[in-house]
Amino acid sequence: MSIEPSTTDAIRDQFDRFVIPNYGRFPVELVRGEGSRVWDSAGRRYLDLFPGWGCNLLGHCPPPVVAAVKAQVDQLIHVPNTWYTALQGRWAELLSTRSFGGQAFFCNSGTEANEAAIKLVRLHTPSERFKIITFTGGFHGRTLGATAATAQVKYHEGIGPLMAGFRYAPFGDLEAVRKLVDEETCAIMVEPVQGEGGVNLPPAGFLEGLRAICDERDLLLIFDEVQTGCGRTGEWFAYQHFGVVPDVMTLAKSLCGGIAGGALLTKAEIAPSLRPGMHASTFGGNPIAAAAGIATLEMIEKQQLLERARVLSDYFRSRFEELAEQCSLIGEVRILGLMIGLQVDADGAAVVQRCLEEGLLVNCTQERVIRLLPAMTLSDSEAEEGCNILSQVLSEVS
Ligand SMILES: *Cc1c(COP(=O)(O)O)cnc(C)c1O
Repeated sequence: MSIEPSTTDAIRDQFDRFVIPNYGRFPVELVRGEGSRVWDSAGRRYLDLFPGWGCNLLGHCPPPVVAAVKAQVDQLIHVPNTWYTALQGRWAELLSTRSFGGQAFFCNSGTEANEAAIKLVRLHTPSERFKIITFTGGFHGRTLGATAATAQVKYHEGIGPLMAGFRYAPFGDLEAVRKLVDEETCAIMVEPVQGEGGVNLPPAGFLEGLRAICDERDLLLIFDEVQTGCGRTGEWFAYQHFGVVPDVMTLAKSLCGGIAGGALLTKAEIAPSLRPGMHASTFGGNPIAAAAGIATLEMIEKQQLLERARVLSDYFRSRFEELAEQCSLIGEVRILGLMIGLQVDADGAAVVQRCLEEGLLVNCTQERVIRLLPAMTLSDSEAEEGCNILSQVLSEVS
């Protein structure tokens, strides 16, 4: 069974001729989104439990973000960072006061935030210290520094030589980290919960142990919260679940409610190492992103969406744990807030395809992990509908 393509031959022909084919695409042309619903050009409606690849944590076209962007477009679209704008300062303050204090550098994406983090930790420590320890199954982005930081060989094939200085440890293995630290090490970089790597939760004590190693060996701890940050896990930032404070944190994905934006936050005593002339981003912290970023934080607060994320999380957990008991196909159910991974003993791509046919959008990562990154604004009935469809599909596949 397959769904009727909503793309026309003309559109596909245009892509074939003019768009580099570096993405696998479903034969669906999306034209409109509202909350957790999207529509294709054939008028078909979908329930989206993976909106915007994690960027649309507030759902599609969240009204406060739409209003803020519309107003800002009329006022000022872009000015470079040689000028002050009230918006960028306000945005930085809102992020700082919701996290560990400190200061922000703004950019446009997750990979760019991680590049800034790599530069910052190298600049902040003596020049003979340049090595950064990262973790297998991690994902830090597609630019070359971030690709080298990403300890998955499939992303390295054919693009070498990689940027030097990264050392990889198994996720969760503190002993391996201790062995890798030497006098050339300057930092440890980790996602508090691995996203693309399969929604892998840190073993108990792991993040605390990394903090302790950093403190003992005078290393900087970088948390890549590009996927976990800004409310995704039911706290503003995932580190707040574990009581472990990083020195540097990177953000993007849901930071601006679906508008492109990224940020690096670091403690005030470290921040000056990113000195004038040493790093920059032309579009970083631009008025549109800043207006959207502020509206995003305010919407989460006004609508008490952190609380909502926790309620939804409990619902998904109970549904999927129950399902795992009935359906031998499902292995581990890994959930923190609205980061959800179901380990399945089946072809994950086939599950995604079957869900699509049933009007449900989900993702598969690492071949056998069904990943959901639902919006905080998902309604009870939408959550129920999504779980029902996924349960149905999984029981058919088994
Ligand atoms: C998506 C992601 C990135 C890369 O972000 P881009 O905006 O695609 O550059 C980096 N780190 C993590 C943890 C991510 O999930």
